[in-house]
Amino acid sequence: MNSYPNDSTNRLVLSRGQNKDDSTNNRNVSCPHELLSDKDSKGKERDWKGKKKRSILMAEHHAAVEGLEKKAERMQACGNVLKFKLTDKRLKLYQAYFCKARLCPMCNWRRSLKIAFQNKKIIQEVNEREKVTWVFLTLTVRNVEGEKLKDTMDQMTKAWNRFAGYAKFKKSVKGYFRAMEVTRNWDKESEWYGTYHPHFHVLLAVPTNYFAKNYIRQDEWTDMWQRAMKLDYVPIVHVQRVKPKKDTTNFVELEDEVKKSIAEQNAIFEVSKYPVKDTDVIRGNQVTPENIQTVKDLDKALAYKRLISYGGLLKAIHKELNLDDAEDGDLIHIDDETDEIANGAVEVMAYWHVGLNNYVIKKFDD
Ligand SMILES: [Zn+2]
Repeated sequence: MNSYPNDSTNRLVLSRGQNKDDSTNNRNVSCPHELLSDKDSKGKERDWKGKKKRSILMAEHHAAVEGLEKKAERMQACGNVLKFKLTDKRLKLYQAYFCKARLCPMCNWRRSLKIAFQNKKIIQEVNEREKVTWVFLTLTVRNVEGEKLKDTMDQMTKAWNRFAGYAKFKKSVKGYFRAMEVTRNWDKESEWYGTYHPHFHVLLAVPTNYFAKNYIRQDEWTDMWQRAMKLDYVPIVHVQRVKPKKDTTNFVELEDEVKKSIAEQNAIFEVSKYPVKDTDVIRGNQVTPENIQTVKDLDKALAYKRLISYGGLLKAIHKELNLDDAEDGDLIHIDDETDEIANGAVEVMAYWHVGLNNYVIKKFDD
């Protein structure tokens, strides 16, 4: 999913959109609009249009919930105008309005890119400083009804603090990245239909000798989580070592150890996302009562809630590197690419065209 700055060999392509149904123009004149095309460093198209469409649909659902009308308005306007600078044949965003609502697909896409970028930096730094192994941990509780979701999530946050404070944890774990995710059961055949499943995805940095010393078994993790959460049942807990992901790039000239660490990092980046998936909040392309109910439940549970956090060594490095807050911070400057923009670069403005259902661009030379 990621686009990291490495080279700038890819070109900006501006496609010509054929447009016949633009009501603002004269009848017989076909008005070719230039449509936005923004590619990442790997040449992959950035899905501005798709995210904007999902945000509009999400806004329509918010508008149907009493008390969320204002949020719906802001979400409707989210990313309406995007101002880029054209440098090195690439577009760099430098001005935009993002609504920052917890359920906004546009904002959550930006948050995900930002978290992925930050985690890449943090993980590289950790790997340079210390010999560590990475472990994925998933902590769950039983599904809950919508009205209990907020309380359960609050309890989980408190339980996490107890959990991470246990002597065993502190002895074995050097640092972590933690994301709280909520999924909904959409299976009408299931007895859990319509309930929510909040859970933690955690990336743990452990010393390389962890498997020989201070190792925590799966049943011990489970026991610790049950205790921290004060549950009268045994919760489901998964733990697994991060398995290096095969990389398609062939680094013939690199040492095996470096290859392994690159492959491992690629596996880690896969969890470095913002944990709200819009396809899990609203299903399909229509406003439905079921979708509205989900928006209502999740909005209440997620409002002002922090879903991601860092601990130990990862927290210290996040601070040292002066990284901004990915959840509530700036969603324009999300990586190194957009940090420095030369003055005098060509400005490209993209605005959302309701009739065309796409971003149309205008260029301004200084
Ligand atoms: Zn937004």
